[in-house]
Amino acid sequence: MFESLSQRLSGVLDSLRGQGRLTEDQINSAARELRMALLEADVALPVIKGFVDAVKAKALGAEITQSLTPGQAFLRLVQQTLTDTLGGEVVPLNLRAQPPAILLMAGLQGAGKTTTVGKLAKLLKEREKKSVLVVSCDVYRPAAIEQLRIVAGQVGVEFFPSEVGQSPQAIARAAVEQAKKTYADVLIVDTAGRTTVDEDMMVELAGLHAALDPVETLFVVDAMTGQDAAKTARAFADRVPLTGVVLTKADGDSRGGAALSVRQVTGAPIKYIGVGEKSDKLEVFHPDRIAARILGQGDMLGLIEETVQRVDAEKAAKLAAKLKSKKGFDLADFREQMLQMQNMGGFDSLLEKLPGGANLQAQLKNANPEKQVKRTIAIINSMTAQERQFPDLIKASRKRRIAAGSGVEVQQVNQLLRQFDQTRDMMKKMAGGGMAKMMRSLAG
Ligand code: GDP
Repeated sequence: MFESLSQRLSGVLDSLRGQGRLTEDQINSAARELRMALLEADVALPVIKGFVDAVKAKALGAEITQSLTPGQAFLRLVQQTLTDTLGGEVVPLNLRAQPPAILLMAGLQGAGKTTTVGKLAKLLKEREKKSVLVVSCDVYRPAAIEQLRIVAGQVGVEFFPSEVGQSPQAIARAAVEQAKKTYADVLIVDTAGRTTVDEDMMVELAGLHAALDPVETLFVVDAMTGQDAAKTARAFADRVPLTGVVLTKADGDSRGGAALSVRQVTGAPIKYIGVGEKSDKLEVFHPDRIAARILGQGDMLGLIEETVQRVDAEKAAKLAAKLKSKKGFDLADFREQMLQMQNMGGFDSLLEKLPGGANLQAQLKNANPEKQVKRTIAIINSMTAQERQFPDLIKASRKRRIAAGSGVEVQQVNQLLRQFDQTRDMMKKMAGGGMAKMMRSLAG
C-alpha cells in the first residue's frame, strides 16, 4: 500500500537531511518535489494545491528556517499535513441510535460493497459483540442477493432473504421489522450499484435513505481508481448525506490518490479501509498512522494490534507458560510458532507496517517468507519427537536423514537449527509474547 508515494516522499526528505538551516530556495524546491509526488500519486488537484501551500507556508515560517534539524522539522510538517488531509482524527462508526442501528451501503458495482458488508458484520459481531442482520436490496441481480447470503453464512450473521421483483424499499422496511422483532443491534443494508454514476441508481438510493433514515450512510469505493474515487464520492455525496467512506482494495493501491483526495473532496471521513478479499481484511482508518506509513515511518501500533488479534491467545499463553517451565523452548514449540504465523497469513500487510516497510517489502519479494515458513515446518516434521525436544542430539547423520526426509539440503537443516538457537535466545530475553519482534527477526 502506498509504496510509490512513500518512496517518492522519502526521496524529498532525504534531500533535506544533513543540511544546515534551510534556505527559501531549498523549501521551494522541496515543495515542487512534493507536488510532483502527489501528482504521480493521482491526488485531486485542489487537494494538492492546498497541501503544498500549507506545507510551504509553515516551512517558510520561523519554525523550520531556524531549526537546527530542518530535515526532521520538515518531515514533521509533512506528516502533520498528511494527517490533516486524511481527516485528522479517527471518526468511529456511530451506533448510538436506538437499536437497530441502520447502516446503508452505497457505491458503484464492483466497488466491494457486499464484501464490505461481510467484513463489517464480522467486525461488529466479534469486536463489539453486536447481533447483526444483513439484507440485500439489489433486486436486479439475483447473484448479488445470493452472494450476500453466502457472505453472511461465512461470517455467521443473520441474513434477511429478499427476491428479485420486490421493491427495494419494501425489502428494507421488512428487514427493519425483522431486526426489531429479533432485537438485532445492527441492520446493514446492501444496495444495487451500477457501473457508472446513473440517475436511476441515485433516485433509488435517495428513496432508501428517506425510508430508512440510517444512522450511517457509508460510501464504498475502490481505492485503485485514484482521484476518480473522489469524483464518484462527490457525485454520491451530492445526492445522499454520506456519513463516511470505506476505501476498498487499498492493498492493491500503491499510489494513495484516493485516500488523500476523498476526505477533502467530499467532507466525509474515511472510516475503514479494505486491505484484502478475506472477511478479516478491514481496518479502522487512523489518519495519523496512515500518514506515518506513507512516510515510511511504519505503524507499530497497527502492527501490534493486528498481531494480537491474529495470534491465538490461548496458544500464546501456553507457550509463555512453557517458556517459564524447566523444559524450556524446543523445536516443537518453534514449529507451533511457525504454524501460527502461517495461519496469520498476509505477511505483506504485517511487513508494510514496519518502519521502512515499503522498502523491506521490495527486498523480500524474492525471499518469499511464506515459502520459508512452510519449509521450516516440513523440516521439523521430519524429526523424531526426541530430536524436537533435545535439538542438541541432531548431529551429522541425523541431519542427513532429516534433510532427505523433508526434501532439502543439509545446509538448510543447519540454517534452521541456527535460526532456532537465535529464536530461543530471544524468547528467553523476552520471556514470552513478543510476536512482533519475532516476525521481524524471521523477515531478516
Ligand atoms: P460490489 O459489487 O460492490 O458488491 O462488490 P463485491 O463485494 O462483489 O466486490 C468486488 C470484488 O472486489 C470482489 O472480487 C472482491 O473480492 C473484491 N474486493 C472487495 N474488497 C476488497 C479489498 O479490500 N481488497 C481486495 N484485494 N479485493 C477486494
